[in-house]
Amino acid sequence: MPVTSDIFYSKGYGQVAPWVDLANSEEWDGFGKLTDHLVNPLWLAAFLKHWKLRPVPRPSIPVRELKRLRILLRSAAERFAAGRRLPHADLAKLNAALNVPARQQFVENQNGFRAELVPLKRDGRWLLARVAASLGEMLTNGVVRRIKTCANSGCRWVFFDKTKARTKRWCNDRTCGNRARVRRARAAQR
Ligand SMILES: [Zn+2]
Repeated sequence: MPVTSDIFYSKGYGQVAPWVDLANSEEWDGFGKLTDHLVNPLWLAAFLKHWKLRPVPRPSIPVRELKRLRILLRSAAERFAAGRRLPHADLAKLNAALNVPARQQFVENQNGFRAELVPLKRDGRWLLARVAASLGEMLTNGVVRRIKTCANSGCRWVFFDKTKARTKRWCNDRTCGNRARVRRARAAQR
């Protein structure tokens, strides 16, 4: 039996934010072949565990709603990568996902107490809200210009460009980047 984390970490999930992983859960292999990890219980379990998103007590995971949210997040990533803004309709849908009941509560940590917004229920809706919120948290960090999608049209992996000059074009230089170089070299020979 495969180890749960293999299918998750070896593919590069768990690095940026929950919303990036959900957008990438529809994975193109670089040659145009698609794998939907969202329908794989092992991947889903690793995703929820890594981001501490497991609903309690265990209600069913809203896979259909996650797929709908994924379309929205993928589209957002493509827009940001192209230097465009989110349309109002998409923003309204994200806000609808965030709309779960919560209350203020004092939470104790090493530095004392802190008022936190705590969900009334950690259910499937809360899970969707947390994934959507992870996009919002990134936007407030002002790092939106570092959100990119792989330049290989057979891949389109969403990634976070950490290079100083924001020059990264491919999800991985050895796979997608190398493929592009080989293609260029062949074209030059012709
Ligand atoms: Zn790629």
